[in-house]
This record gives sequence, C-alpha cells and structure tokens, in this order.
Amino acid sequence: MEEENKISSVYIHIPFCSSICSYCDFCKFYYQDILVEKYLDILLQEIQEKYCHDLIDTLYIGGGTPSCLSPTMLNKLLQGLKILNVSPSLEFTIECNVLDLTEEKMILFQKYGVNRLSIGIQSFQPRILSFLGRNYNTKIIREKINLAKRYFTNINIDLIYAVPNETIKMLESDLEFFLSLGVPHISTYSLMIEPNTKLFIQKVRPINPELDQKMYRIIENKLKANHYIHYEISNYALPGYCSKHNLTYWKNEHYYGFGLSASGYIGNYRYTNTKNIKKYLSGNYIDEQEFITSSLSASNCAILGLRTIYGVHKENFLKQFGMDFIEYFAVQSLLDDHILLETDTNYYLNPKYWYLSNEVLIKFI
Ligand code: SF4
Repeated sequence: MEEENKISSVYIHIPFCSSICSYCDFCKFYYQDILVEKYLDILLQEIQEKYCHDLIDTLYIGGGTPSCLSPTMLNKLLQGLKILNVSPSLEFTIECNVLDLTEEKMILFQKYGVNRLSIGIQSFQPRILSFLGRNYNTKIIREKINLAKRYFTNINIDLIYAVPNETIKMLESDLEFFLSLGVPHISTYSLMIEPNTKLFIQKVRPINPELDQKMYRIIENKLKANHYIHYEISNYALPGYCSKHNLTYWKNEHYYGFGLSASGYIGNYRYTNTKNIKKYLSGNYIDEQEFITSSLSASNCAILGLRTIYGVHKENFLKQFGMDFIEYFAVQSLLDDHILLETDTNYYLNPKYWYLSNEVLIKFI
C-alpha cells in the first residue's frame, strides 16, 4: 500500500449502554447479552472481511459503553481483535463508565494489551450528574479512579460544562476535583442539546453564549496553570499523554471504522456504517460513502489540522496539493491579522481564536 494511503488506526463501535443519558444522541441500545453476542459475531466478521493486515498503531474501542459488556463478552471481543497486526508501541484505548471499573475488568483489559482508559465521568456535581442521567457520586469516582490507576497510567476523563444552572463556582470545584485525581488527560465539552434527546424533548435551553465562553476560558487557564497542554480545542494533556488516536483524525490520516454507525477513511473514500442494527446484523455494513476529491481533502486537512496546536505542516501540504497552504486558500489576511500564526515548518490557528474556531475554519471550506 502507498505511504499516503497507509492505515494505522482502527475505531471499533460498541453500541450498548447500561443506562441512557439525558443528553445522548449517539448510536446505542440497552445492554442485552443475546444481542451483544450476535453483534460481536458480525463485528468480528466485518473486521475479517475488510482489514488488510496493515500495521496498527492506535486502536480505539468506543461507544456506547464498551466497558458495560460482561467479562465473557469482553473476552470474546478482545480475543477476536487478536487478528489485528499491532505495532509494539500500540496505543489501545477503551471507553469506560466509571461504574464498570472493577478489578476483574482491569485485569482483563491489561491481559489483552489495553493501555489507555477513557472514562466518561462528565461532572463531579451531584445535581448535574443526576440531570445528565448518571448514577454515581464523587466518593465512587475517587475509589474507581484509584483502582484504575493501579493498572493504568494513561487515563482520560470526559467533562461536560455549560450545563443549565451550572455556576462558575461549580465549574471551579469540578476542575479542582479533577486535578486532585492525578489523571493526565481531560476532554471538555460544552453541553449540546441535540434533537431526539431527553433534554431536547423536555425543551431544556442551553446557557447563554457569554457564560459558555467564560467557562471555556476558566477551564483553559486552570488546566494550563497546572501544566496541562491545551493541544486541541477540547483536549488537554500532561506532556507525553496526548491521544495518538485522535491525532490520526486531526491529521486527516486514514483509519478503519468497524461496527454500527462507525466511520472510516480508506483510500479516497470516507464511509459511514449503517445505524440500523437489523441491516448491520445481516452484513450490510455501509450506509454511505463519499469520494474525497483533492480539494475536499485539502479542506479537511485545514479544518482538522487547525483544531490542534500543531496546525498544518507546510511541506506536507505543498507535497500533497502542489501549492502553498496560504495561497491555496487565499488566506493571507488571516496571517496578516495574526489569526493564523506560523513557525518554520507549520501554520497554526492562534489559540486565542480557538473558542471561535468555526467562524475562522469556514474560510477553508
Ligand atoms: S452518553 Fe455514552 S454512556 Fe450515556 S447513553 Fe450515550 S453512549 Fe451511553
């Protein structure tokens, strides 16, 4: 396979959850052992059919809640994934619900080479946890994180902010609590009220945009003051703990996506698998495919790359698209106005504009 079409990342979707959160619009179902077993059979069949023995550097099992699978089902999944030819420096992440963090599952994950946990905690405030439909408290969180840290050092926590009625004081207390856990990575997301979610049906309104922006800045300042690198719009990591898998997406690189509703990027096509479980279980995996023209690929390269502190590599862009990045998109004014900055090797978005990045990135479409 040619170098530019090299695929070194795999995303796997497990669409099952033990409970359903009020804000969730992901593709998921309530956990049922019989359905899970059938699903895993088809998932492993899809992998066998499509995987071309590429050397895999990052493997990410997301959902849904993969950790809610029973130990028997997790064994079946992880054993089946042994078909993948993985590099010695593999980053292998599994998404977890904090309540699923048991000694038995930690040992199982370790046995199969998982070396990164992404834990969807979302908040440390009892009222917000209950509003989001999450059934745990800070005592449980601390106990479970301490248990996870006995087995794993590379851990991410997801945090949601800008929840209706959340105050600055609550956010600051969440950040203090997060820092006290000693976890090296955090992804922070402002609450989105998406159609077809419980919150949408209940007509919950988002908080005002000024408060949202203020909260974004508070998070940024607090985490940076505590040595976290703000390496992507929503992501912070201590040195050495940036997510290699997510960087694959932001660098516009190729990856396999397996499972219900998963997306992938192979050769000149981006594809999305069906969200219809009946279709998926009958082996009709793909729902839509999009041919990625050179200009679309250039746009993706800009829009994804400029989300990160690394930005776009000048030489690589020139090599791939035959033109200097600034010339290609006619964005000299962004450079003159210091909205885009440059080093000898890269162009990147001035982090001051990250919060308003959509307004800038639209110029690259
Ligand atoms: S947010 Fe995550 S855990 Fe909650 S229902 Fe959605 S997929 Fe499941």
